[in-house]
Amino acid sequence: MTKGTPSMGKFNKPIHIRCRRCGRRSFHTAKRRCAHCGFPNPKWRKYDWLKPKKLLR
Ligand SMILES: [Zn+2]
Repeated sequence: MTKGTPSMGKFNKPIHIRCRRCGRRSFHTAKRRCAHCGFPNPKWRKYDWLKPKKLLR
């Protein structure tokens, strides 16, 4: 078995499909959960470090 680019052929199956709620391609097929908005969690995935820190100095 060789290392490198030829082994990338294993990544044919999509891990993330289109999310119904946020529209991004972030819905994990195995976990059944969106990596972006947290669907099917009723509350949106939100973190404090997600907000822009331009006012922070
Ligand atoms: Zn989503």
